[in-house]
Amino acid sequence: MAFRLGASSDRGRMREGNEDSFLASGSLAAVADGMGGHSAGEVASAAATEELRSLQDGAAWRGERSAGEALKWAVMEANRRIREMAAGDKSLEGMGTTITALLSDGDVIHLAHVGDSRAYLLRKGELSQLTEDHTLVQELVKQGKLRPEDAKRHPQGSIITRALGVDADVQVDTATFKIISGDRLLLCTDGLTGVVDQATIRNVLLRVRDPQQASERLVALANEQGGPDNITVVVLDSDGSGPDTGVIDPTGELAGREDDLVAGLRRVGPGTGGGRRRGGRSQKLAKRVLGVLVVLVLLSAGILAGRNFVYSRYWVGFDADTVAIFRGVPGDVAGLHLSSLVERSSVTRDKVPAGYVLSLENGVSAGNLADARRIAACAPVVYQQPDCTIAGPAPTTSVAPTTTRPTTTTKKRS
Ligand code: MG
Repeated sequence: MAFRLGASSDRGRMREGNEDSFLASGSLAAVADGMGGHSAGEVASAAATEELRSLQDGAAWRGERSAGEALKWAVMEANRRIREMAAGDKSLEGMGTTITALLSDGDVIHLAHVGDSRAYLLRKGELSQLTEDHTLVQELVKQGKLRPEDAKRHPQGSIITRALGVDADVQVDTATFKIISGDRLLLCTDGLTGVVDQATIRNVLLRVRDPQQASERLVALANEQGGPDNITVVVLDSDGSGPDTGVIDPTGELAGREDDLVAGLRRVGPGTGGGRRRGGRSQKLAKRVLGVLVVLVLLSAGILAGRNFVYSRYWVGFDADTVAIFRGVPGDVAGLHLSSLVERSSVTRDKVPAGYVLSLENGVSAGNLADARRIAACAPVVYQQPDCTIAGPAPTTSVAPTTTRPTTTTKKRS
């Protein structure tokens, strides 16, 4: 099935460039939100959408592969390609991108998703989010450490935990479902969902029949909210007749109905918040949530201005009694471990000057892998060699007074 589609991408009002990319043609659509220094984010998101372009003519999947497999394969190929580009060019080191892509095969839609861009389905007037954000706050929500309503308002919602370009074995979320006449799909980057709520998005999708105009209206709304990030929107209609708006009951709620989405796709239409307990929770929970928010604010302030990606940062600390290099941020945030071991150095704890042990316990941040290796190698002579003294404490040491910071920062690792 070929869609009738509209697409808009805008720099927004705060960013100097647009690191988002999109692809919208026939049976294929994708949005990608790049991150990385200078123009690296732009390179990463463009590389991702370019890689998917190979699916355009169907040749890649009319053979042995199903369309769903081909889409997932193309996303993994994009991951490989981005890592290869970053490895070959120092200015691209640490770049990454989100990707949310869909490919239609007849009346079946295949979705592939990594990061915090989103796909939505408007069916019979009800808006469903088809993707789950790979973000720190979503992770906290899943673990019951943060209430969904607090997560929505959270300014650090853009700290993402999964992206293309970071690990060789990227985990890709996939879903498959049947499209029906009147369905309208939306792909967007967090520049839209960060500032425009779902009720407003739904209203626009219901009221603006032309997909191009709908995409432009959504971008304009994000800009009216300050446009703090790049905004990219793709609207796809399953046929030319515009969205099926469903039946609206007298209270303004939409008539409840079952759809045939596969299990795991999450319904976020009106009324989904009704089952939540409110007010009955103790102040303890409120304090805990506040604690988490404080940590998140401090944490993200120490990572990067603007777009944050936890795992694009390096730090040096101890793995048991060996000085080692980690990716992520030191310590735990509300019980979440945000680091992965990259490599161990040949330096052991007993070689590290006593006064520097605590710094390493807390984690010493590094700009890149080379910097991290230098810091690790310098650890035994940190107070002697001038080249080695620039290794300062990690920015997250400011978090120390809060109770969520563990005392066993780098010792326990599973
Ligand atoms: Mg963004």
